[in-house]
Amino acid sequence: MRRGREFGITIDEFRIDMSAVRDRKRRMVSHSVDIHLDIFKKSGVELILGSGRFIGPRTLEITLQDGTARRVRGDKVIISTGTRATLEAIPGLAEAQPLTHVEALELDVIPEHLIVIGGGYVGLELSQAMRRFGSKVSVIDRNNRLLHREDEDVSEGLRGLFDDEGIDLVLNARLKKYIGEVRPGSPSVI
Ligand SMILES: Cc1cc2nc3c(=O)[nH]c(=O)nc-3n(C[C@H](O)[C@H](O)[C@H](O)COP(=O)(O)OP(=O)(O)OC[C@H]3O[C@@H](n4cnc5c(N)ncnc54)[C@H](O)[C@@H]3O)c2cc1C
Repeated sequence: MRRGREFGITIDEFRIDMSAVRDRKRRMVSHSVDIHLDIFKKSGVELILGSGRFIGPRTLEITLQDGTARRVRGDKVIISTGTRATLEAIPGLAEAQPLTHVEALELDVIPEHLIVIGGGYVGLELSQAMRRFGSKVSVIDRNNRLLHREDEDVSEGLRGLFDDEGIDLVLNARLKKYIGEVRPGSPSVI
């Protein structure tokens, strides 16, 4: 749409409705959850939805969604609790209430200027999406290239694409402190 004129397509006006974008995302997530719940049911595996904690060797207590508790024991217990984003101890960062990928996916406004800390695939995915929605985007990474675990030609290719899209890249850089204005309700850093 933004490059329409280049292709001879005239678009007088268009705007992004982030609430609608978010609603669609929520529908996609809930559809995906339904599919997986269905697979679980069909497989015969018992799925217990609740929060588990060990209360003894190989024994867990689960707080179920209705608040009641249930105990389970297994000869073998596999812990697969995943990870959560952590905030580096950069002065001022926590106070700035930055978004992690969780909150960023719940935005119903397009940030005026989004600063993305970290040029890994999650940060890059969000950067590209937000840039295309119309946000100014700057990516800061401590390494001298994007996706530094990938082959160098991948990083080079991405750099070219990001330059073309007008995404600002600040590489080989470490954050010392966050000195921006803290505006509750309008976080702009992820
Ligand atoms: C924005 C984003 C985009 C991504 N895109 C891709 C992609 O395109 N392709 C790809 O392959 N990967 C992608 N990933 C990575 C992928 O999502 C993760 O690698 C994967 O989800 C890890 O699976 P997991 O089961 O280890 O952990 P999780 O998916 O985090 O699952 C852990 C689960 O354990 C639950 N849990 C935690 N503690 C307890 C407890 N005490 N009791 C009960 N339950 C508990 C949590 O609620 C959660 O449901 C993406 C990640 C992010 C953040």
